[in-house]
Amino acid sequence: MPATDPLAPADDPPLTPTTATVDLGAVRHNARLIRKRAAPADLMAVVKADAYGHGAVRVARTLREAGVSHFAVARVPEALELREAGIEAPIQVFEAPLPGHLPAYARHRLGVTVSSRAVAEAVVELAGGRAPGAAPIRAHVKVETGMERIGEPPEVAAELARHLAKTDGVEVAGLWTHFAAADEPGQKDFTRRQLSILQEAAAGAGPIAGRVHAANTPALLHFEESVRALDPTFVRCGLSLYGLTPFPPAVSASLGGQQLRPAMRFTSKITHLKTVEAGASVSYGRGWTAPERVRLATVGCGYGDGYARLLSGRAEVGVAGRRFPVVGRICMDLMMVNLGPPETAPDVATGDAVVLFGPGGPSAVDVADWSETIPYEVATRVSSRVPRRYIEEAASEQGKTALPGTANRATTGAQPAGAPVTENGRFS
Ligand SMILES: *Cc1c(COP(=O)(O)O)cnc(C)c1O
Repeated sequence: MPATDPLAPADDPPLTPTTATVDLGAVRHNARLIRKRAAPADLMAVVKADAYGHGAVRVARTLREAGVSHFAVARVPEALELREAGIEAPIQVFEAPLPGHLPAYARHRLGVTVSSRAVAEAVVELAGGRAPGAAPIRAHVKVETGMERIGEPPEVAAELARHLAKTDGVEVAGLWTHFAAADEPGQKDFTRRQLSILQEAAAGAGPIAGRVHAANTPALLHFEESVRALDPTFVRCGLSLYGLTPFPPAVSASLGGQQLRPAMRFTSKITHLKTVEAGASVSYGRGWTAPERVRLATVGCGYGDGYARLLSGRAEVGVAGRRFPVVGRICMDLMMVNLGPPETAPDVATGDAVVLFGPGGPSAVDVADWSETIPYEVATRVSSRVPRRYIEEAASEQGKTALPGTANRATTGAQPAGAPVTENGRFS
């Protein structure tokens, strides 16, 4: 290997074995499928938690260019990151605001979740103290319908919406709720009841400037009547934008007959290889012992990268198009993979790619199952020390794969899209 040049251009691959490659073409493709399915409902693109680990600024810019005009995050600093990146579109902040945070909503034109009577009163007070001609405060009044998280019961929410609608300097941009179990067939009655409580609140509120909204990804996929029953409305989608669904792909990864495309590929590399004899114990606690002479690959990824320790002894990874098991305890920065008897995969070498999830390896849903969680958490926990590399599948609009080496363009986090070509045009 050539020595590393400290003055090398910034577009060199990051100096870490572990990277998350995000295909912005897939995000665009998924947004198009969602919008087609949801129409006439609009998409409110949910980019909280750094766009479920995919990188909020890059994802939001991509969606903005594709014509998406509403965004949502969970926290104020997440919204500020988008504002600083030049995203001027409406952004709703989902969480219940703490009193001291409200002025920032006004200053940065963020949609406020009116989660209680007290928040409504604080919004009215804030609006009263603002300069004439200032942009109205955009209020999304939350209706408690069965999640028991935030919001007021329908009669109270309706009253608050009516009051806010009459208040100068306030616009009621939304009346909304959140489903507790929209993807569970056995809970259909409960979900229908949640929808009808929201409709009851909407009837009580009377006309509002904004929209009545409820559907998330599970509702769009499995409870479409919640989209059809409200107009105008939003579908507030996150998971499906990233090409993930709560179920195994065969069940629900298609929208209107077309497949969603997972946007993230999480990979690492083999940093060390060795052959051990039968009886060698592997990793902390000596929890796994080689049953025979095997080749072990040490991989430069661990729970510090967001690859959960619970995956120890449970997960498989992809190496050279084949699956191999993770053995022994996953460490903070490293883990071991059993390549089997030395003759099984003799060509595997140091520096080879290891697919933790994504094309060429297991899916994020597999990893979720193995680690007793949901794909939401699998994507979100990919840690901040893992560099995100961005590619544009040039032919993605047709759903084809771009030619290796020509159209797979990759950039690391801080750079503009479309610059240097990845090594061999492959994920690396
Ligand atoms: C995160 C979130 C969503 C998006 O849910 P997905 O299932 O990822 O589409 C929608 N609404 C609220 C209130 C949320 O917190």
